[in-house]
Amino acid sequence: MDERGLKEIYREIGISPEVYDYGERALSGLRARFDAIDRTAEYNQAKVLNAMRKNRVGAEHFAATTGYGYNDAGRDALERVYADVFHTEAALVRPQITCGTHALAVALSANLLPGDELLSPVGAPYDTLEEVIGIRESRCSLKEYGVSYAQADLNPDGSFNYPAIRAAINDKTKLITIQRSKGYAVRPSFSAGQIGELIRFCRSVKPDVKIMVDNCYGEFVEPLEPSDVGADMVVGSLIKNPGGGLAPIGGYICGTAECVGRCAYRLSAPGLGQEVGANLGLLPALYQGFFLAPTVTAGALKGAIFAASLYEPLGFPCVPAAAETRRDIIQAVTLGSPEAMSAFCLGIQSAAPVDSYVTPVPGDMPGYDAPVIMAAGAFVQGSSIELSADGPVRPPYAVYFQGGLTWNHAKTGILLSLQKMIDANLAKLP
Ligand SMILES: *Cc1c(COP(=O)(O)O)cnc(C)c1O
Repeated sequence: MDERGLKEIYREIGISPEVYDYGERALSGLRARFDAIDRTAEYNQAKVLNAMRKNRVGAEHFAATTGYGYNDAGRDALERVYADVFHTEAALVRPQITCGTHALAVALSANLLPGDELLSPVGAPYDTLEEVIGIRESRCSLKEYGVSYAQADLNPDGSFNYPAIRAAINDKTKLITIQRSKGYAVRPSFSAGQIGELIRFCRSVKPDVKIMVDNCYGEFVEPLEPSDVGADMVVGSLIKNPGGGLAPIGGYICGTAECVGRCAYRLSAPGLGQEVGANLGLLPALYQGFFLAPTVTAGALKGAIFAASLYEPLGFPCVPAAAETRRDIIQAVTLGSPEAMSAFCLGIQSAAPVDSYVTPVPGDMPGYDAPVIMAAGAFVQGSSIELSADGPVRPPYAVYFQGGLTWNHAKTGILLSLQKMIDANLAKLP
C-alpha cells in the first residue's frame, strides 16, 4: 500500500493530509517503544497459549449450559486457564459477575467480616467503590455490615507514604486493597514491581493480612501481574482488557483457593459456591477474547502513547506524559475548554464502527457533580477496551481516552479527534 492510497482513504474518513503527516512524524519517533510493547504482548500471548494447552482446551468446552450449570466442564476449564495465567491456585470467572464493581464488591464482602477493617494504602478508591465500602452512605455497604475503612493517602509525588501505612495497620486490619490503575484520579498508576514492594512492606508490618488488587485496565500491560508479586486476589472486568473485546459481560477474581472459595460462596450461596452458574453459551467469546487480550491490550497501549504524542506538543498536558512508561491503558488529555472536549469526543465517536453518526453531548450522570461527555461506539455496550473517551465537563476539562480493539482503529480515532479540534479552531498544527 503506498502512501497516496492511505492518505486518500483517510481523506474519505475526513482526515486531512496535513493531520496524517503530523501523525506520521510523531509515529517515526515511537517505533522502538512500539516494539517493546509488541514483545510484552508476545510474552503474554505465549502465557495464555500455554495455559490453554496445559488445560487441554477443546471444542467440548464451548458447549452451552443452562439451569444450575452443574458439571460445566467448559466453565471449569476456563477458570483453570485464568488461574494458570495469573499464577494463582484458583479463579472465579463468570458471566454472573456483572461488571468490575460487582467483582470487587464480591471479593471484599466475601473476605471481610463484622469487626474487620479494610485499608487502602493508595488513597481514595475508584468512585463506584465509595458506596460499596460506605465512604458514601449506601444501603448494603460494608460499613452497614460492621466493616470499618481506613485510608493512607499517597505522598504528593504519588509515592507510597510508608509511615502513614504502618500507622494505619492495626489489630482489626484484615484486608488491604490496592488499586493498580489511577482510574479517574490524578495520581500515577502502579507497576507490578511497585505493587510487590508495597505488599512486602504491608506483610512486614502484619504477616497474615490479606491483599487484594483492583487490576482493572492493568491486565497484560506488563509481563507480571500483581498475583506474581504476592497479592492474594486480583480482580477485574471482562469488558476491559482480559475480555479482549469479545466478552459481552463478566468479571474475574483470581487468587488463593481460600479467598476465591469464599468469593464463590458469596456470589452464589453458602454451600453452593463454584459448583453452580450456567455459562449460557458465552464461553466461546470468553475463551477467544482472553486469547486475543494480550494483542488487543498492546493496540490500546500504542493508541494511548500516540494520543499523548500528538496532543502534548500542541500544548495540551497529558497524564501520563507522552514519554512516560505505561502502567495501564488510560490516557488523560487536558483540553482546557468544554468546546474542545466536545470536538475531541466528536472525533472519537465519528471514527466508531457503531453509532458513528451520533454527536456526543454532555449529560448528567449519577455520582458525578458535573455533566459528563462520552464518546463510545462499541460492539459491547459500555465496553472500555473498545475505543472510547469520556470526562466530566468541568475544569481542567480533561478527557480520559482508552481502548481500541486494534491499533489501526485507535490511530484513526485519534487522528480524527485532532482533525475535529483543528476544524473548530481549537488546536493548531505546529
Ligand atoms: C473500571 C474500573 C472499575 C470497575 O468499574 P465497572 O464499570 O464497574 O466495571 C474499578 N476500578 C477501576 C480502577 C476501574 O478502572
